Amino acid sequence: MKIDIVTLFPRMVEGPLAESMIGRARARGIVDIRVVNLRDYAEGRHRVTDDAVFGGGSGMVLKPEPLFAAVEAVRTPGARVVLMDPRGVKFDQQAAAGLARASHLILLAGRYEGVDERVREHLADETLSIGDYVLTGGELPALVVTDAVVRLLPGALGGESAADNESFASGLLEPPQYTRPEAFRGLTVPAVLLSGDHARIARWRRRQALWLTWRARPDLLERAALSADDMKIVEGFERGERPDG
Ligand code: SAM
Repeated sequence: MKIDIVTLFPRMVEGPLAESMIGRARARGIVDIRVVNLRDYAEGRHRVTDDAVFGGGSGMVLKPEPLFAAVEAVRTPGARVVLMDPRGVKFDQQAAAGLARASHLILLAGRYEGVDERVREHLADETLSIGDYVLTGGELPALVVTDAVVRLLPGALGGESAADNESFASGLLEPPQYTRPEAFRGLTVPAVLLSGDHARIARWRRRQALWLTWRARPDLLERAALSADDMKIVEGFERGERPDG
């Protein structure tokens, strides 16, 4: 997969893209990520990328010409152009999985008061918001999207199935996990996890995942594929039962 991040502030994204999972995936050729400096596509002696808002109002918006020129310079057939935008469709695990199937993503980071609306309407194939809050620019959202997408690419996490068990992948939040030591400052690991009884451990994990999701994200439970046993467990929570009860 190829990812281009178009930004006025390349240094804001270059560091994180060189580290850890993304850095390794790039080194192994799983993903080819390029940072495109929007200023390089601005014209004139001063390479101006933003201008005042027509009709009045405070602040500046990114001009359309450099954004169109940058995208046209890097675009490949089948590329998906995604504008980072607080007014966009809410980004989630399902959206990440959809983007991970693309051959080429071009992520556009807005700045200032945003981008000229013609970019949204005629250049971007889609818009994504990473949450209901306003950030200063689209660089952090572009990194969030890149991280969530790259870790889904085959081989990016090392263990091929690692992403399958995580929160959201199954429609539920992930159950608690522990590592050594078994006792830390008097806090012990649930005995069932040390029992070696895999069926019991699987039941415990399912019950915990249902509990955490029921308590923190009931909206996810409504959409999750629940078995008859799962439903009984959830009904138990509704009557006041607890996950370890
Ligand atoms: N005036 C815009 C509005 O009210 O919708 C906000 C512009 S914001 C200060 C500047 C840029 O940051 C946006 O164009 C977008 O690229 C990015 N941005 C800010 N918050 C975001 C979010 N929650 N999700 C995605 N992108 C965001």
